[in-house]
Amino acid sequence: MRPLHIRISEIPRDGLDVVAARGKAWVSGILEGLNPHPLRTCRLVSAGLFLSLEGRDLLASGSFTADGEGVCYRCAEPVSVRMEKEFHTVLVPRDLGPAESRDVELHEDDLEIGFYDGGGIDVADIFWEQVVLALPVKVLCRDDCLGICPRCGADRNRVRCSCRGEAEERPFDILKNLKEEKE
Ligand SMILES: [Zn+2]
Ligand SMILES: [Zn+2]
Repeated sequence: MRPLHIRISEIPRDGLDVVAARGKAWVSGILEGLNPHPLRTCRLVSAGLFLSLEGRDLLASGSFTADGEGVCYRCAEPVSVRMEKEFHTVLVPRDLGPAESRDVELHEDDLEIGFYDGGGIDVADIFWEQVVLALPVKVLCRDDCLGICPRCGADRNRVRCSCRGEAEERPFDILKNLKEEKE
């Protein structure tokens, strides 16, 4: 699928509502090719994007709802994840002169600032970046998922296995879980 490309020259003085101007047929396919790790799949359900210019800086304000599928890190059960986000990003031209780009570098840690190349922007680039920022760090079916018994493979959310040493394992699991939360 060709990414939706917006030329800077087609953004009117009072801004461009991308969905109003171009329809929304692009929404469901715009994440095609994205690696949504740690999810297995991810697609946009709805999206809005408003582009406006401030000098040569491109202001992108938008929102999206995305549905993803993954598997629980602890018990491997399928998990559905819904992500909803609003964003406001300033995209500056990558070809700024040396003096101007030095100013930009001061803000590089700021997630609100990005870059665009040449005479326009691919809408996919904007949503890919925003969706990646919204992805969960780790997929869990629930915060207190008990996971799989390392001895017998039982799903401890469903069955209470009677593995020997289970009582001794518990303090270890707690330590392990604490360690996981820190990562
Ligand atoms: Zn789980
Ligand atoms: Zn067991």
